Amino acid sequence: MPDRARDGAVRQTGADGFSCDHFRAPDRTDGAVVRARYRCVTLEDSRAACVPMTDPRLDSLLDTCPGLRLTTEPAELEHYGRDWTRRWTPAPLAIALPSSVEQVQAILRWATAQGVSVVPSGGRTGLSGGAVAANGELVLSLERMNKPLGFDAVDRTLTVQAGMALEAVHNAAREHGLIYPVDFAARGSCSIGGNIATNAGGIRVIRYGNTREWIAGLKVVTANGELLELNKGLIKNSSGYDFRQLLIASEGTLGVIVEATLKLTDPPPASNVMLLALPSFEVLMQVFAAFRERLQLQAFEFFTDRALEHVLAHGAQAPFAEVHPFYVVTEFAAGDEVQEAAAMAAFEACMEQGWVSDGVVSQSDAQAAQLWRLREGITEAVARYKPYKNDVSVRISAMPAFMARTQALIGEAYPQFDVVWFGHIGDGNLHINVLKPDATDDAAFVQQCEHVTKLLAGVLKEFDGSISAEHGIGLVKKGYLDSTRSEAEIALMKAVKRAFDPQGLLNPGKVFDL
Ligand SMILES: Cc1cc2nc3c(=O)[nH]c(=O)nc-3n(C[C@H](O)[C@H](O)[C@H](O)COP(=O)(O)OP(=O)(O)OC[C@H]3O[C@@H](n4cnc5c(N)ncnc54)[C@H](O)[C@@H]3O)c2cc1C
Repeated sequence: MPDRARDGAVRQTGADGFSCDHFRAPDRTDGAVVRARYRCVTLEDSRAACVPMTDPRLDSLLDTCPGLRLTTEPAELEHYGRDWTRRWTPAPLAIALPSSVEQVQAILRWATAQGVSVVPSGGRTGLSGGAVAANGELVLSLERMNKPLGFDAVDRTLTVQAGMALEAVHNAAREHGLIYPVDFAARGSCSIGGNIATNAGGIRVIRYGNTREWIAGLKVVTANGELLELNKGLIKNSSGYDFRQLLIASEGTLGVIVEATLKLTDPPPASNVMLLALPSFEVLMQVFAAFRERLQLQAFEFFTDRALEHVLAHGAQAPFAEVHPFYVVTEFAAGDEVQEAAAMAAFEACMEQGWVSDGVVSQSDAQAAQLWRLREGITEAVARYKPYKNDVSVRISAMPAFMARTQALIGEAYPQFDVVWFGHIGDGNLHINVLKPDATDDAAFVQQCEHVTKLLAGVLKEFDGSISAEHGIGLVKKGYLDSTRSEAEIALMKAVKRAFDPQGLLNPGKVFDL
């Protein structure tokens, strides 16, 4: 049932207490400084309990950063100390909510002087544990730095603070008749800073690419409090190493992104959404090729009957009278009769081949939204089962062989579990979610899944694929980084980390251990 949360955000709470912010919390305006009154201690059973206490380090932080909003309220420690993974028990030292770049600089100078680790935090919709604070770190939330800073019509760029929600960025771009095209289901809760720190992908990568393509400039505060202005909105800049690109996908380990200059583009032509029912996994790539050949695709996403079942149980409407094993939702340009005819031709060609068993095309925006809900609702619908997630990618050309291998592996490995597949098939990206049975112990479940991830990582190595397509490495995939990156690459990554953050205070233990 939705309820109004402490901060005014509407929060959906599932039967197990799982919650998700659908709307961003409005910025608090009281400006109050909350003095440290509690600390978290980790008990032997690793469940955090909070006891009143004033940590003198926090007093010194408030002294060096006057006006900083800082809290050690137990509910806040819990709320800000975890992301969507829910595998780790939150135990941060405190939560800092700066309102300016200067405050972020002061916090990081203090952290360096005190030797306190810092976890940069956006909307905490991350699926790899990147924003988890389970070891007495200071959480540095960008939540209050959520404003647009300027639009440049000639450059077609929008400059924003890093805590701005992706959906708010979409709305701000639309006000100027343009779009920011990176998009996915967590748009209402995730922040643009988090998107940049994970190089987020989403449902329109096939047409527009990942977040990386859309960043014209970044302002970043390093561990020692220095402010870097990276690329400054330039299109052409051959002046040596591009640290902007290095910061993208760095998962909070190299610096805190405080502002971003985003490229915008023209809105796409009118589009239609089609849902296709497929008889088997094997025909998926043929259907993709048939549609890509004839249409300008904006999205091409697939999911299984298991995924659909969970979304329907979560309140969505069944699209077909019959159940089919696989589904595709695709969006394509349909601005005129020629494009509409091409869509019909693609559909009919697939029907003739027996690759598609049924289909439905949207006739209105409301119907398009209903069809999209079937795909976009999956992550939320399965969240209550604490799914073990794999988010893997290979080259599109390698997809048929990789999918066959993976399907066989998963079928063999998990006969006892409910496995939900979906993914951005047009980008070579599969999401494999293994749902935890309620009766199975959390740790035993993760252990079984990790065993299979090892096998999957081996397959990915053969295919030159990636253990993380778009969710990042964080804590969840740290142990498998070497399936995707060579020893030499990992050594260089560590050297870069040391150059940016010599004391290893920024998001320690994420991506790799130093
Ligand atoms: C329903 C749902 C659907 C999703 N769909 C997709 C999808 O289609 N594609 C996709 O790519 N992801 C998807 N995700 C995952 C997630 O939304 C993205 O990874 C998103 O980019 C995370 O943004 P965030 O603000 O929530 O980051 P957080 O979870 O807060 O943080 C993620 C990482 O970024 C770091 N970080 C955050 N802010 C900053 C900053 N300002 N400076 C430096 N580091 C920072 C954190 O330390 C952490 O390592 C989905 C998640 C959900 C819940």
